[in-house]
Amino acid sequence: NLGLGSWPARRARISPDRTALTGHDRTLSYAGLADRTARLAGALARLGVRPGDRVAQLGVNAVSVFETFFATWLLGAVAVPLNHRLSGPEIRYMLADSGAAALVHSPDADALVAAASPLPAEVRRVVTVGHPGSGPAGGLDYETEIAAGPALDPPPPVALDDPALLLYTSGTTGRPKAAVLTHANLTWNTVNQLAHLDILGGDRVLCIAPLFHAVGLGQITLPTLFKGGSVEPVPRFDPGALLARIGEARITGFSAVPTMLQMLCEHPAWETADLTSLTTVVYGGSPVQERVARAWLDRGVRVRQGYGMTEAAPGVCMEPAEPAEPGDQAPGGVLSAGVPHFFTDLAAYRDGHPAPLTGEPAELLVRGPHVFPGYWNRPGETAEAFTGDAWFRTGDVLRVDGEGRAHVVDRVKDMIISGGENVYPAEVEAVIHQLDEVVTAAVVGVPDPRWGEVGVAYVELREGARLTEEALRAHLAGRLARYKIPRHLVFVPGLPANATGKIRRVELRQRAAETFP
Ligand code: AMP
Ligand code: MG
Repeated sequence: NLGLGSWPARRARISPDRTALTGHDRTLSYAGLADRTARLAGALARLGVRPGDRVAQLGVNAVSVFETFFATWLLGAVAVPLNHRLSGPEIRYMLADSGAAALVHSPDADALVAAASPLPAEVRRVVTVGHPGSGPAGGLDYETEIAAGPALDPPPPVALDDPALLLYTSGTTGRPKAAVLTHANLTWNTVNQLAHLDILGGDRVLCIAPLFHAVGLGQITLPTLFKGGSVEPVPRFDPGALLARIGEARITGFSAVPTMLQMLCEHPAWETADLTSLTTVVYGGSPVQERVARAWLDRGVRVRQGYGMTEAAPGVCMEPAEPAEPGDQAPGGVLSAGVPHFFTDLAAYRDGHPAPLTGEPAELLVRGPHVFPGYWNRPGETAEAFTGDAWFRTGDVLRVDGEGRAHVVDRVKDMIISGGENVYPAEVEAVIHQLDEVVTAAVVGVPDPRWGEVGVAYVELREGARLTEEALRAHLAGRLARYKIPRHLVFVPGLPANATGKIRRVELRQRAAETFP
């Protein structure tokens, strides 16, 4: 059994007494993690969970989330971590879609589980984990009823190509679908990350990004547990508390989404925070604003961009530890998505046909042992996701520069074609973001009888900031070709975003089409 579920016991043979996990719920050594996950696996087996069954999970980042992951994997079952910020009906849909046999949740998700009830009939068991003595929510309480039972022994065989994880993709479009990640996918991603990140057994990392997202689990967390370092799951993002924690616990790294990096460097405690222990700060999911990367660099921390996606478990590219040129700390270098991971191969499509990778922006294709086999029960969408010769179509437009550094340009679907010219909203947004008055901006296309499409920019200003439409136009005029400048500029109090901070463009496109018919 080389599956992910065997990791705690394997690691415990090397470093049993090192701290594996510290959270608000408990602290566990590697030996403790191995023991508790084997017991939880035994309990799940006694409850009727079989290899291949899906075990859904709900709750904020906690040690119990890791216990449930490893127990599910040890059993040869498939973990389905769900987003605790979704609504009851959304949770019910995902439980039914994944055919979950059991739902394991921590007490903080009690209300959500109630809102999702009645649960689909396939969900045979509900188990509460986490805080000792917390009452069962109409199910069984792991701490009081189960932990005393025997461990799963021997665990069933698990093949590396067996499914390990179903992750519902962030759902900025259409019906949520789950990407299937195998034990091999997550293992190879770990190897890839460790070829890039200098993580050692003495490292102590925060797990801030949610564990229902591939970044939360894959970018730094599993690699740290593989190396025998220590992971501190953070239940909710509180920038002030985090800044204090970094100094107090001598935290060496974390993986975040750009919004978090921004909130940290804009917090009043930023100036006095002790960041001297940080060596490995990585982010991904969307680009970070240049001024944010600069603020971190000014404090001696070079935040490194990763590029990836759920379907790649998740790493595809990462900025190397060394800047492009020695001594080069230019924001351009800081902000590239870097080079492909060790066991990752890249290719490109332009207008749906193979094209050179370097030079002009093109759709990125990815191949590697970390790339998923397909979407859960969606043969049509799975087939569409791959080219004829099995490259994964990312749907992202990237540009690879002369030094081999990749730059994410935009989503293929978000591209606006205006008067026959390609306009990448991300490029326009980056120019709008240069203004200090702007918190965030999103550009979408609306149909136009003359030009095919024209751009509409939605701009959110900082509280109390003043910016006129003329001033914004003047800023854009000097910096972008005329065809790229949005026809309509709209100031808004806020932009619709999903749980990982990504703008919901489908919603904005609809709004724009209604406002500018
Ligand atoms: P998800 O599958 O939800 O993890 O989202 C993956 C998508 O996020 C990718 O296909 C990209 O569109 C976007 N993304 C990931 N990393 C970056 C990055 N460094 N810069 C810009 N966009 C990114
Ligand atoms: Mg995606």
